[in-house]
Amino acid sequence: MPGYELWSDAERKEVNDVLETGILMRYGFDGPRKGIWKAKELEEAICNSFGCKQALLVSSGTAALTTAMSALGIGYGDEIILPSFTFVASFEAVLSVGAVPVFVDVDDTLTLDPGAVRKAITPKTKCIMPVHMCGSMADMEALQAICKEHNLLLLEDACQSIGGSYKGKKLGTIGDAGTFSFDFVKTMTCAEGGVVMTNREDVYINSDGYSDHGHDHKGIDRGADLHPFIGYNFRISELHAAVGLAQVRRLDGFLATQKKNHAVLKEILSAIPEVSFRRIPDAEGDSCTFLSWFLPTEEITRAVVTEMKARGILAGNFYWYDNNWHYIRKWDHLKNAVTLNALHPDLKASVIHHATKDFSASDAIMGRCISTSIALSWTDEQLKTKGEQMLGVIRKVLSEQKAAV
Ligand SMILES: *Cc1c(COP(=O)(O)O)cnc(C)c1O
Repeated sequence: MPGYELWSDAERKEVNDVLETGILMRYGFDGPRKGIWKAKELEEAICNSFGCKQALLVSSGTAALTTAMSALGIGYGDEIILPSFTFVASFEAVLSVGAVPVFVDVDDTLTLDPGAVRKAITPKTKCIMPVHMCGSMADMEALQAICKEHNLLLLEDACQSIGGSYKGKKLGTIGDAGTFSFDFVKTMTCAEGGVVMTNREDVYINSDGYSDHGHDHKGIDRGADLHPFIGYNFRISELHAAVGLAQVRRLDGFLATQKKNHAVLKEILSAIPEVSFRRIPDAEGDSCTFLSWFLPTEEITRAVVTEMKARGILAGNFYWYDNNWHYIRKWDHLKNAVTLNALHPDLKASVIHHATKDFSASDAIMGRCISTSIALSWTDEQLKTKGEQMLGVIRKVLSEQKAAV
């Protein structure tokens, strides 16, 4: 999770360029901005780095998802299939466009189980939204085949997997659209920000207008722009884009260190036969933001978490099963459809129905999973110590378990 770990002169320099001119907005002010266009530059850099035709920066990853859904024409009456393990932002975006979030089980990839996706398809299904959780990818070939067969849109929530790839293509550039988040804890950061990536001209044009009150951006006079449809304001500022511009240039370095540290930790934990690892559809493409591993039972996993906590080494290890923000089990607000303003009663009923289904297949995976976030700042020594401390805990719990049998 390097974004904030490696703040440097490079970020300060880009921000200072903007502070010099004082033009903090990404559009207009062509004269006074003296050729400084950080958002445009970052969009170009994103197209080049990730290999998409077009990129549209917005104010957050959540805004990117909402913008992409609107740009794809997803709305009232539509169902979007998404995984039970994700960040709350994924379903917030679905609700923001008035569509129905249809939650589906994850498998040992920690992403959508293609078999479960098939079973969830109805005549109302409009889109499949895989979430490439914790740095690694969904089984895209299987999902693409389902989309093709049923004529569905494919929207990738790649917010957590910046720099990951699947069979040579960068995550977020494979579907009809894909999104990254550049919030403060993502692989690269703008402080706050996000991007919609697409190879479809229509999706780009719609996103461009939607995120700026419907502006068609065809002229040089903002006031004279036309508004072919109703939009919203999800603009990014030049200050935020400036931070991201410095970060995207450093991304390859971030990823290389991440991969190296990930490999060392994985090697250490591999010494224990009872530990297994997340299945990765294309191991080459893992961005290695996290190392996700399984223990044989929920009971053992809970005991390991408890022991890590007791020894003060739990920081950076995530037991998602008990987490309020990433797994459906604890989303009481969603299960009761608690909103500040009224939802259409049909939508409310659908939300409750889909959030309270049986997720025992997901439970069986998530109850045994721990994800260890991979820091960039670890020294070799710290990494080794961390691995050995983890080994110590796991071995102790496993031997106590055996003794009890
Ligand atoms: C972070 C994240 C988002 C939302 O991004 P924000 O920039 O924080 O709004 C969406 N989906 C996933 C999977 C995320 O991890």
